[in-house]
Amino acid sequence: MTALGSSTSPQTAADGAAAPLTLLLPLGSTEQHGPHLPLDTDTQIAQAVANGVALRLDSVRVAPAISITASAEHRGFAGTLSVGTRVLTEMLIEIVANAGPEFGRIVAINGHGGNAYALRAATEVCKAHRRALEVWSVRLPGADAHAGRTETSLMLAIAEDLVDLDLAEPGAAGPIEELLPKMIEGGVREVSANGVLGDPTGANAAEGTRLLAALIDDAVSQLADN
Ligand SMILES: [Zn+2]
Repeated sequence: MTALGSSTSPQTAADGAAAPLTLLLPLGSTEQHGPHLPLDTDTQIAQAVANGVALRLDSVRVAPAISITASAEHRGFAGTLSVGTRVLTEMLIEIVANAGPEFGRIVAINGHGGNAYALRAATEVCKAHRRALEVWSVRLPGADAHAGRTETSLMLAIAEDLVDLDLAEPGAAGPIEELLPKMIEGGVREVSANGVLGDPTGANAAEGTRLLAALIDDAVSQLADN
């Protein structure tokens, strides 16, 4: 049993007494992902990575995903929800501070770049409180930023029925570093009318399966190294 929400409390206590548990905390978002991907794309990806890691390592529990996070940059696109960086930071600090001794490690599995500020701030506070919050974030060499080929391929591998490839169209091109100053000013809307940063053209499930395996490998090796 790896889903914490489906486990009982006595079983969790017994398993944690036998060997301290590693709690994976999937961190997604509820934000626009262009015309062709669902709002919970980042949550689906974080959840899939966490589930994959849980199959590979012993004594792991996957917490219920946190799926309303820091998505202010996507404001103005219907369906986007956000609690913002400050509240997300507090939420992470409280989760770590209140988790019981059955959890030897707590690791955020982050699928959304906009959560990085909250994760950095929470990590610092947790360190000062002498209980670590570890962080793994989605990272793929050469990946496009948002709702492009990378995320579309991943979603075709994870939940194909939620992807409408007929509606997939290119968005803002260019490296994220160049788009970022404008985005910080006016949000994603400022640089991309359809909300896509990148180009989903050519996305396919086989590529997504390879990318997902690479993400799981990366997370497993980070967890094994620390
Ligand atoms: Zn995303």
